[in-house]
Amino acid sequence: MTATGRQCGDCTLCCKVMAIEELAKPASAWCPHCAPGRGCRIYPDRPAECRTFSCVWLVNELLEEHWKPSRSKLVLTTSEDGLEVRCDPGFPDAWRREPFRGELREWAISGETLDMTVVVIVGQRMTLLTPEREFDLGIVGPDERIVRELVGTRVVNATVTKASDLER
Ligand code: SF4
Ligand code: SF4
Repeated sequence: MTATGRQCGDCTLCCKVMAIEELAKPASAWCPHCAPGRGCRIYPDRPAECRTFSCVWLVNELLEEHWKPSRSKLVLTTSEDGLEVRCDPGFPDAWRREPFRGELREWAISGETLDMTVVVIVGQRMTLLTPEREFDLGIVGPDERIVRELVGTRVVNATVTKASDLER
C-alpha cells in the first residue's frame, strides 16, 4: 500500500513499457516473468529495479484516477528534466486522447516557466511537448540526450545529440 492508498491491482503496464537492465529486458516488450493483468511470477525474487519502481499515478494523488496506467495505457515517471509519459505500444495514440492530451498540454505550459519538460515515449520514439507544438525527435537511444534551444523560457527547437558529445 502507498501513501495514496492506491495499489497496482490489475495493472502490470510498467512490466511492459519500462526497460529492466538487470533482466536485459527492452522497453515496450512484456517481461517474460509477467502475467499481464495479474502480476509478477517471480515477485519475491524480482530485481531491485522492480522493487524500487513506482509510477507517478501510484504515489501521487494529484494524478486523478483516470490516469491509472491499465486504463489510460500511459505510465508516467519523473526524470531530472521533468515528466516522462510512456505509452503502451499497443495503443500508440493513447496520449492523444482526451482528457490526457489536454492535461499533458497544461503541464507543458506550466513546465515551461519551471524548465521542466514533458516527453512522450512510444517504443524508442520520443516526442517533446511544448505549449505551442510537438517536436518529433524520432528514435532516441539510451546514449543520446535531447538538447533544447531556448528563447527566454520558450523552446524554439529540439534536437538529439550523443551524450558523449555534450561532455566535450
Ligand atoms: S504502471 Fe504503476 S500502477 Fe501499473 S503496475 Fe506499474 S507501478 Fe503499478
Ligand atoms: S521481474 Fe516482475 S516486476 Fe519486474 S518487470 Fe518482470 S514481471 Fe515486472
